[in-house]
Amino acid sequence: MPPIRNRVSTREKANPQLGVKFVLILVGAKKRHFQVHEDLLCARSPYFRSFLQAGRRDIDGDCSICLEDLRTDDKDLTYCMQCKMNFHFGCIAEWVKQYGQHPLCPLCRGHWIQRNRIISKFAFPDLNAMDFAKYHEWIYSGTINCNEVIEQQDFAPLVSAYLFAVKVKDQKFGTAILQAMLEIYKDTALYPEQDAIALAYNLDTSAYQIAGIHRIQRFLVETYLAAAHAHWFEDEEWAKYPHEFFRDVTVAMFLEHPRKNKWALDTWKAKLEAEENDVE
Ligand SMILES: [Zn+2]
Ligand SMILES: [Zn+2]
Repeated sequence: MPPIRNRVSTREKANPQLGVKFVLILVGAKKRHFQVHEDLLCARSPYFRSFLQAGRRDIDGDCSICLEDLRTDDKDLTYCMQCKMNFHFGCIAEWVKQYGQHPLCPLCRGHWIQRNRIISKFAFPDLNAMDFAKYHEWIYSGTINCNEVIEQQDFAPLVSAYLFAVKVKDQKFGTAILQAMLEIYKDTALYPEQDAIALAYNLDTSAYQIAGIHRIQRFLVETYLAAAHAHWFEDEEWAKYPHEFFRDVTVAMFLEHPRKNKWALDTWKAKLEAEENDVE
């Protein structure tokens, strides 16, 4: 077996726009602490943005002070607490300095409130700390940690991280997770088993975007079309999988090989005629 990498790199590079403000994210019932650049987290995930920077405008277009693109790699951004419009951090700092004691926002003319660098805290008790740890590593380094999979040959942590991506609405992270699973399959021929599949099938879908759930279910079904063997259906194994997964695999097989699965009418006709003759 070739050596297994325990980190899978993805093409996505970490966002250099880290911003100036840190936020302390407390994850899960045990409140595991993660310190994160707020802007980085919010640029990645509309879910976190809705809690941490409610109403902030999308980062596109130009800075209305210097008229240059907001989306440059080398400039930090900030935004007006009143109108929620984005500016380069350096541009607004210069603006504020020139303005004197009570600076106004150049756009909405509301009082400019400096976002301070003091860490604020947000708790997300419903999220899973292991998932967040993977996400944290990915947004900073662009790599996915696959240690558990390789040690336990269990894909459940990766499927769980994918579902986290759907929940926090970060499709790029979801894609990176699927790429990591493909890489592991390519290197080791390992593929997700019952526990991992149960996660993607036995869940309360109300917290998720349905398209994201269908994507992982489809991915798992196609993994089985490529990797599973016929004897998998003969022993007791299949009964341990969610019923809906078994249904989806069966449907996908019929769709993939419609002709192979046509009833062999001629064979049966000949067989029945032979029996008929025997009886006579
Ligand atoms: Zn600017
Ligand atoms: Zn404003």
